[in-house]
Amino acid sequence: MLHFDSLRLSYSKDLTKLTNAVPVASFTTLYPANILCTTMATLEQTKETFRRADAVCFDVDSTVIREEGIDELAKFCGVGDAVREMTCNAMGGSVTFKKALTDRLSIIKCSREQVNKLITDHPPQLTPGIKELVDRLHERNVKVFLISGGFRCIVEHVASQLSIPHDNVYANRLKFYFNGEFAGFDETQPTAESGGKGRVISMLKEKYGFEKVVMIGDGATDLEACPPASAFIGFGGNVVRPQVKERSLWYVTSFGELLKELEMI
Ligand SMILES: [Mg+2]
Repeated sequence: MLHFDSLRLSYSKDLTKLTNAVPVASFTTLYPANILCTTMATLEQTKETFRRADAVCFDVDSTVIREEGIDELAKFCGVGDAVREMTCNAMGGSVTFKKALTDRLSIIKCSREQVNKLITDHPPQLTPGIKELVDRLHERNVKVFLISGGFRCIVEHVASQLSIPHDNVYANRLKFYFNGEFAGFDETQPTAESGGKGRVISMLKEKYGFEKVVMIGDGATDLEACPPASAFIGFGGNVVRPQVKERSLWYVTSFGELLKELEMI
């Protein structure tokens, strides 16, 4: 019997069509889905969208928290080096997100007990300023979501620290056998596939009727969620990824910069 512990979303779209539909002669980009965001908006428009957002979606690993959850889990299970190497290869874009996740988890094979112990012994470290920013967004009645390629059991712990309802968490779900042994992950979740974050945002817009949704994150999968996100803000407070920085209309290295922007109105 399987026990489901965490979740995630995915989507695919024809990026070739999108590229052809937009005049992009002056742009060279690895992420065609981001072209609409970069051609149709300016820095000022991005800031304006952030100030007036209905919802703000945060990536988790290296954005809301300082570390990469899967690397911490691997380290904790004694296979840190092997998994870190795989993560680097995966970021090179040679394998699909789902394949990379499957491969890494097949090495980690964490039990439910190990995951619980990781959270207790090495709880995820919040990035400075995130608590203040999320509190301020909540005060302004802006909905806050966490959309992560990491694991729900860990991300829910982060959500609790930030007073974000667990219903607003979209992440991958680890599966365990009844005795607590590792049994894989739920491959049907949108976040289990490349493009999954965008699919979650499309779903949120439809479900809640949001008009302005902002995605904030450090990675390529965050950048490619715009569109459907109305705007993207690159975050380099923990790690700077040059390709993301280069393609972000608004790139910040601290959450204080975003908090300051909210005081403008
Ligand atoms: Mg990240």
